[in-house]
Amino acid sequence: MDKFFLAIIGGGPAGYTAAEKASKAGKDVVLFEQNAVGGTCLNVGCIPTKSLLYGAKQYYNATHAQKYGVSAENVSFDFAAMQKRKTIVVRKLVAGIKQRLNNEHCTIVNGFAKVESRTDECVTIGCNGETYEAENLLICTGSTNFVPPIPGIKDNEHVWDSTDALAATELPKSIIIVGGGVIGMEFATLYHELGVPVTVIEAMPTILPNLDQEVVAVLLEKYKKAGIQILTETRVEKIEGSEVFISSSSSESRPSSLSADKILVSVGRRANLSGLEALNDIELNRGAIVIDDFCKTNLPNVYAAGDVTGKIMLAHVAARQAEVCIGRLLKQIPLQRIAYNAIPSVVYTNPEIASVGITEAQAAELNIEPEVRRLPMTFSGRFMAENEGETGLCKMVIDSKSQMVLGVHMIGNPCSEFVAAASFAVRNGYTTAEFQQVVFPHPTVSEILHEIV
Ligand code: NAD
Repeated sequence: MDKFFLAIIGGGPAGYTAAEKASKAGKDVVLFEQNAVGGTCLNVGCIPTKSLLYGAKQYYNATHAQKYGVSAENVSFDFAAMQKRKTIVVRKLVAGIKQRLNNEHCTIVNGFAKVESRTDECVTIGCNGETYEAENLLICTGSTNFVPPIPGIKDNEHVWDSTDALAATELPKSIIIVGGGVIGMEFATLYHELGVPVTVIEAMPTILPNLDQEVVAVLLEKYKKAGIQILTETRVEKIEGSEVFISSSSSESRPSSLSADKILVSVGRRANLSGLEALNDIELNRGAIVIDDFCKTNLPNVYAAGDVTGKIMLAHVAARQAEVCIGRLLKQIPLQRIAYNAIPSVVYTNPEIASVGITEAQAAELNIEPEVRRLPMTFSGRFMAENEGETGLCKMVIDSKSQMVLGVHMIGNPCSEFVAAASFAVRNGYTTAEFQQVVFPHPTVSEILHEIV
């Protein structure tokens, strides 16, 4: 049996990006995936969620079209048809990735891979009763939904994780969402727009606690007005059937329990280390694999990329880590690094939130004296034309000494589509004067970035 140059465990955005890049460079690569290639993002994460959210947005826009002078009567939706479309979108994208890997002659093995042994020269992996050897190993095993130790949460037919929610063929009659983070607020948006009563329970004083709170406040105001019940500073004590018992440190009054048809638990994800037990000397931090700037672990021929590294659990970070890792393995000069300070992130609520770089609060923690600029999105003509009744917000965090752009935080559709322009400025260390010279097309909402500098 010939030894592979590289074995990759996990075929998500990190794994398939690395496999394609290394195979394209002429290296022998074997990629192990127990489910479909594409990983969580493509199969049970980003893509299916966005497909369903788009359907919900179409329905919501049709039923709220009067503000644009359009009346639509008897508007209805078919959730099963939305699900069917989602499945087709996913299937096509999975097929596309498989095709790309096949074009590069990458060996794909469908099964659960288990590391059997490792020396500095060779990693041995078992899968489907066969043994594979490789000079190098790249771990891209991703993450799994974290199940908090709440009594009554396990084996409860009313309790869903995000994968259950995405697979359901019928809408819940009502839903309690435990965890007001990214997953929680995106599902809150989906169900609310389809007319399902939604309650969000969040332990922290605010939803989306890691984001700029002025931006989050715009969303909160809209969602509360729209009837989404958001209970912050609230903890779940136990669940009995469909009843959720809560306790709260909030000064606002709260009931002692709530009930709903379904309870979606979205309180974070954890690195997935299963199959890696033989690597008992790999360095971990809080259950995630520690990597250097080139995705190398403490073991000489073992690399890791994506959620399993616990850095930033986003598909585009995983893909970039994979690119950097393969560049390092192929000894490409100059060696590239990841600009972790310029990773954009989006929350697909309605309106969307998009941000990159540090927030005003983080600037204070870093002892940076920030100059903070704010503009409502209504400074953009296109935003005014297409977002009746919304104000939106764009915030820019600037280093007051150097005038360098350190962060941009926005709420307003479709900011997800142009946050990359702000990432470019942060990544390249643009000053406001340099960013000012970038021409944005008119009329687009992206012009807000030009207005604010
Ligand atoms: P998260 O960390 O974004 O949010 C979890 C939330 O649950 C936090 O606000 C936390 O305070 C709260 N929480 C924790 N324990 C709780 C408890 N016992 N009771 C009530 N609230 C509790 O995690 P997530 O939303 O599960 O998402 C997981 C990962 O997936 C994240 O890293 C996220 O960035 C990623 N993701 C990204 C996108 C996107 O990019 N649009 C979409 C979905 C998920």
